[in-house]
Amino acid sequence: MARPVSTDVGVNIEELALKHALANAVKYGGRADVKAVMARVMSEAPELRPRAREVREIVERTVARVNAMAPEEQARLLGERWPEMLEERRAEQKRAGVEGLPELPGARQGAVVLRFAPNPDFVLHLGSARPAVLNYAYKLKYGGRLILRFEDTDPRTKRPLVTDDVNAYEAIREDLRWLGVRWDEEYIQSLRMEVYYEHAKRLLEMGAAYVDLCRPEEWRKYRDAARPCPHRGQSPEENLELWDRVLEGHFGEGDAVVRVKTDMAHQDPSVRDWVALRVIDTTKTPHPLVGDRYIVWPTYNFAVSVDDHLMGVTHVLRAQEHSVNTVKQSYIFRHFGWRQPVTVHFGRLKIEGAALSKSRLKSLGLRYDDETLPTLAGLRSRGVLPEAVWELVLSAGIKPSDATVSLANLFAINRKYLEPVANRYMYVSRSDAVKLIFETDRELTAAIPLHPSFRERGERVYRLGPGRVEVYVPGQDVEAGRVVRLMELANVRIDSVEGGVAHGRLHGTSLEEARRLRAPVIQWVHSPIEVCVVKPIAVGRKVEEVGLAEPALRSVSTGSYVQFVRYGFAKKRGPDLFVLCHD
Ligand code: GLU
Repeated sequence: MARPVSTDVGVNIEELALKHALANAVKYGGRADVKAVMARVMSEAPELRPRAREVREIVERTVARVNAMAPEEQARLLGERWPEMLEERRAEQKRAGVEGLPELPGARQGAVVLRFAPNPDFVLHLGSARPAVLNYAYKLKYGGRLILRFEDTDPRTKRPLVTDDVNAYEAIREDLRWLGVRWDEEYIQSLRMEVYYEHAKRLLEMGAAYVDLCRPEEWRKYRDAARPCPHRGQSPEENLELWDRVLEGHFGEGDAVVRVKTDMAHQDPSVRDWVALRVIDTTKTPHPLVGDRYIVWPTYNFAVSVDDHLMGVTHVLRAQEHSVNTVKQSYIFRHFGWRQPVTVHFGRLKIEGAALSKSRLKSLGLRYDDETLPTLAGLRSRGVLPEAVWELVLSAGIKPSDATVSLANLFAINRKYLEPVANRYMYVSRSDAVKLIFETDRELTAAIPLHPSFRERGERVYRLGPGRVEVYVPGQDVEAGRVVRLMELANVRIDSVEGGVAHGRLHGTSLEEARRLRAPVIQWVHSPIEVCVVKPIAVGRKVEEVGLAEPALRSVSTGSYVQFVRYGFAKKRGPDLFVLCHD
């Protein structure tokens, strides 16, 4: 009988192999393992068992191709093609964190609709990641939908950031993908302008809004005196006629606004008849998506109210700083007879030692993915893992009080996640390096695993001697008269240290001996390569250090994480170039 071809058994082996190779690579620091991928493929499609040889060839080829990709590329591809596999990786952590979240009032299983609504005037940073993670975490908790909504209706003061270098819309999507936040629907407000116009018109018809032609300073006088301005009394017909003229472009910036009727005696003057739409001269400040097609723009509060209703949002989780906006928005819901979503305000997440406000970050004029910045892209460049951001955000939860954490807290969490992922290599900073010369009468061998807890990842073997051996070690560890243990290699007694060169003698090779002598266990490099390590110091500040490192680092793929033993965790950025994440 003829052997069935792949399609006959309904499985695309190549696809299956790619999915599991990517998932395996993402799980284990960028390198997939043929055996593990084979096992996954076979368990998903047991009907392939009789064709193991053929499958293995495909798996081997696919694993080689995947392992040649940068880890970021692997994660991106996996997230794009099989997002559920990325989910799997984070599922456990999320389950733990998500379950600990307090219940949302009135939330029903399977029926919540949440939204993350960034303004694309900048990329995401630790502060703005918080509503993204929290909204998604609640979507996971209850099931339902998460909406991604770009709130970009202020082309003048909160201009969407779209330049040759960065497109904030795409950068935010990328940030979310990296975080593992998945959304079910996406909207861009600047592409929905007719919806806002239509609702503005309905408010005017109902007598719930009016076209105000007061000069701004005049209006302020009425507002502060809690008195209606003369335009408030216009009839719907008058307002509709004025509205048409506003849309036709008869009024310039500041000459006409649409105000929603609230309560002119409201204790907070900013709530009194707030502006729902205004004129923005887009011939001067064109919108990056719609150019100068519109000159009348809804304010944040108006567009949000209309959208939250039309999109069926059931719960709004937003920062405390928006609490007055929630009050303002309540008037739109009341005028239309809509039900306002349940709103929960959480406190600010202040990060000590890192500028957080968008305006401050923007004013620094650095690339948004600079490794010294607390933008998600910056943290990513530096080597922070999304799991660490999740844990930090979930630990702050939705408490209304402000929470202060330091970058050191984030790094402590990150270390926990990097530790199993990052393979270990030896590195000595060049400015601190001392050449240690000693004689050995036998060959010394060191078989050093890439990671002591994951021996299956492999090892590299050093064979030094017999005869004269030269290695580089950190200067602060060598002192005449002391015995040091060169990690996994030998114990050496230091006889002299002078001018960056130390001479010593082999003392022994056993670890027990080193322990008995209380010899410090130190890293060493032999026939090293020179690498550059970028060390972020503070926002906008970094130094570059040249170091001597193991040649095996050459075969680490760009984008991978490594641990420089007794030094810190780093991410490979390019050939012989690393960024230090933290110690
Ligand atoms: N676009 C608003 C922001 O970025 C969303 C606030 C909200 O309504 O949740 O702060």
